[in-house]
Amino acid sequence: MTRDFLKNARDRYDVIVIGAGLAGMTAANTLARAGRSVLLLEQHFKLGGLATWFRRPGGHIFDVSLHGFPAGMIKSCRRYWSREIADRIVQLKNIRFDNPMFSLSTTFDRDDFTRLLTDRFGIAPDVVGRFFDAARDMNFYDDQATTTRELFDRFFPGREDVVRLLMEPITYANGSTLEDPALTYGIVFSNFMSKGVFTFQGGTDRLIAAMRDEMIRNGVDVRIRAEVERIHVRGRRVEAVTVDGRTIGAGAVVSNANLKSTILNLIGSEHFDSDFVDEARAVRLNNSSTQVYMALRPGQLIDESCGDLLFSSTAPAFRTEWLLSRDVTSRTYSFYYPKTRPERNRCLIVASTNANYADWADLPREDYARAKADLARSTLECVEKYVPEIRGKLDHVEVSTPVTFRRYTRHLDGASFGTKFEGLAVSRALPEQVAGLYHAGSVGIIMSGWLGAVNYGVIVSNDVDAFLMNDKS
Ligand SMILES: Cc1cc2nc3c(=O)[nH]c(=O)nc-3n(C[C@H](O)[C@H](O)[C@H](O)COP(=O)(O)OP(=O)(O)OC[C@H]3O[C@@H](n4cnc5c(N)ncnc54)[C@H](O)[C@@H]3O)c2cc1C
Repeated sequence: MTRDFLKNARDRYDVIVIGAGLAGMTAANTLARAGRSVLLLEQHFKLGGLATWFRRPGGHIFDVSLHGFPAGMIKSCRRYWSREIADRIVQLKNIRFDNPMFSLSTTFDRDDFTRLLTDRFGIAPDVVGRFFDAARDMNFYDDQATTTRELFDRFFPGREDVVRLLMEPITYANGSTLEDPALTYGIVFSNFMSKGVFTFQGGTDRLIAAMRDEMIRNGVDVRIRAEVERIHVRGRRVEAVTVDGRTIGAGAVVSNANLKSTILNLIGSEHFDSDFVDEARAVRLNNSSTQVYMALRPGQLIDESCGDLLFSSTAPAFRTEWLLSRDVTSRTYSFYYPKTRPERNRCLIVASTNANYADWADLPREDYARAKADLARSTLECVEKYVPEIRGKLDHVEVSTPVTFRRYTRHLDGASFGTKFEGLAVSRALPEQVAGLYHAGSVGIIMSGWLGAVNYGVIVSNDVDAFLMNDKS
């Protein structure tokens, strides 16, 4: 017998949130705390979206996107979630780079980067100071035409090594490139530089369980395995969603699903101005990722001098297209020591690369399997440099590709970080097109990543609350 995952759901809510990623959950929680009745619908059997984990035999738990986020997450979680969640956020102190241009360790904050840029890279202190100030002072209303490359050229002309130090981690953190607006770089880079890189102690499973408990305490009606098929609009006003064949009414709808599929698939272009549809169609998606997950046998430990995060590359210089290529030269390793989940005493490694969906999507089944096996093999060869004889220590190895991310989150092209910059304006303009319709989720580079998604969820929930307060219909 199939289970009814919508059993006892009401016929109408103040707000329906589609998708339980960090932005969707934060919006749902904030609105419930404000006294709104909220239904949260998630198509997967787990909450969290890309903030996810999976278990494998032998007691291994792999985190998919817990590699690092800025300190701002502590404040956002304390305010909009709970003190218990905020108190588990701890710093990763050993960030490493290893490439043909330089090998170094850093705490990845302004003081340490100033030291590195002046002492090691020989940049004049006042240039470094002015660069940090320029990056920090960027905001959404600034000049959006200057690219990140132009910003670097202004401060560090001809210094490919400096560009690599400053850019490579941010490309991993949000998929941005040298051609994207400098403010997308400046905001995210400065967020990290304020205090360094942070993680959630206890793992993603513990975080999401705490968020679920908090939502339930606040009265959010949380439903999994509930895929929304349609958002209904009548006369330019949102009125309901159809999920699992059932139509449920709502005063407002927040979609945490991919921006383009929300507009073009869940709603349909006929409900929007044609200019807006053209704009939405033109929004570029961000890149996707591959990952190789490696679990060491119980009792096999890795020396913590390997670092917490390691940006490793054999490429002679930094080029975005090289980072995306299937001929992988650059990998970011997350080393998870027993301190991540102290009760388990396990070491795991996750190697991530940025990747193009198109390079993986159309491979015939056998080629796809072979490409995954090749990626696992070449990754193990590279890890040997940092963890000698790794193969003899492993219990489990597994690979995910852009196709995997597409499958589990429904993101078009398996986008890891939502959309490029232009997606933010389209996301923000949705309620002007259809009253009561909102989007909260990774867009515009700035609003992606764990912190960006949580903060966007808060911003949108405030908009929704104000809309419902003033709504006379
Ligand atoms: C490999 C990888 C590594 C990353 N590493 C980091 C990192 O170290 N630090 C960091 O800050 N960020 C990282 N990120 C990015 C970060 O995880 C995401 O930006 C963030 O989690 C996205 O949250 P979101 O709220 O936008 O939505 P998502 O997580 O994309 O969630 C959207 C949710 O909507 C659901 N959904 C979609 N369609 C429907 C539907 N029709 N009905 C019901 N539900 C639906 C999906 O199932 C999903 O649960 C990484 C991402 C990837 C892929």
